[in-house]
Amino acid sequence: MGKILDYDEMNEILDGLDSNVIKKEKPIGHTYFGYPIDHFVYGHGKYHVIITGGTHSSELISNVFVIRFMEKLCNKEINIDDNLYTIHFIPIVNPEGTIIVTSAIRSLIPRSISDEEEQTYCLTYYRNSYIEGEYASKYGDRDCKLQQMMFRYATPNILDDRHKLLKDYLNKLFKDNNLPVGCMINWSSNGRGVDLNSNIENSSLIKRVENGEKIYASLHLNNIRRDKLGPLGCPYFSKKGEIEKENEALFNFYNEISENYDFIGSFIYHSCGNIVYYLGKDKEDNPWVNLTKGMRKDNYDVAKVYADETGYKLDEMEIYTTMDSKLKSLFPVTLLIELGGVRATPLSQFMDLNLEDSSDKFRMVYSKIIEDNTLAIMKTLPVMIDVYKNVKN
Ligand SMILES: [Zn+2]
Repeated sequence: MGKILDYDEMNEILDGLDSNVIKKEKPIGHTYFGYPIDHFVYGHGKYHVIITGGTHSSELISNVFVIRFMEKLCNKEINIDDNLYTIHFIPIVNPEGTIIVTSAIRSLIPRSISDEEEQTYCLTYYRNSYIEGEYASKYGDRDCKLQQMMFRYATPNILDDRHKLLKDYLNKLFKDNNLPVGCMINWSSNGRGVDLNSNIENSSLIKRVENGEKIYASLHLNNIRRDKLGPLGCPYFSKKGEIEKENEALFNFYNEISENYDFIGSFIYHSCGNIVYYLGKDKEDNPWVNLTKGMRKDNYDVAKVYADETGYKLDEMEIYTTMDSKLKSLFPVTLLIELGGVRATPLSQFMDLNLEDSSDKFRMVYSKIIEDNTLAIMKTLPVMIDVYKNVKN
């Protein structure tokens, strides 16, 4: 069995978790096409924490990491004091996107594949994306991409009939917006084609979209437009300021936890870059809150513990024009973590090779992500409590 999980496999694992350890609550909301955004809880302690994965569905490693972490808690492979903490897990923030991207993966890579064989696909995907990235910088061409061509039979029709509404909508979207062949493998948006992280009232993209500018994604994805509904980047569905149901649900959920409990922090997982973002000095006015020196220092201190444990780079957030920067601003201490140092989601982060003489970047990518970040959460939680207590006093 390989390491990749598709949407149904994720749900099988989640539904199979010991409910005495991790309990499934009622969903925090539903998507436009009616999929639940599931919520699970570990512990019953005073201090509340939120952990999310898969805002960008093509960053599949973030779902898998959160789910594997939950599993470790259930198996008692790791121990977090359940009398001290209450941990809320939203492992699939963007269910529609996850259905799309994992259906694309399954059009080529079957579930029953051996681990070794799966590795060859991940490596091929990585290398193809890398080549396209080089070509894009050298020649600037927007031709079809090798890594997308691997998945050129992944059209909306491969979606199971359980997803009929989504499938019909996608078929129309592919046609209307002339989406590139094979681009379901790059799907980061929700099912409507809106990028949840860009879907924010002050997205920097809104003005450019309204001016009719053609905005392309970069490097190996430079044949994908961000100004139109599609795989990534598009900030709103039909009119500016329109917030998608996933974001509404997540924002309400953060508010509910912070109003009713001792909310000490959250971990938002993306991929990739091996980066932990802290609250930096805003280049333009932060529209939600006046970030004080104290808030920035607290956020930095916690982020540093996480970065030291993983060896990730600490990076300063300076531009506050995404959904996650809003969550970070309004709910310190929130960390945004980019898993994995190799480019090209959704498959490269599943590489787990120990090639002789390979650079560190390549060595055991998957295992390192899972192990280092598991330890980092455990190390960071007590520091979140300390910071929280200091702020309160
Ligand atoms: Zn992302």
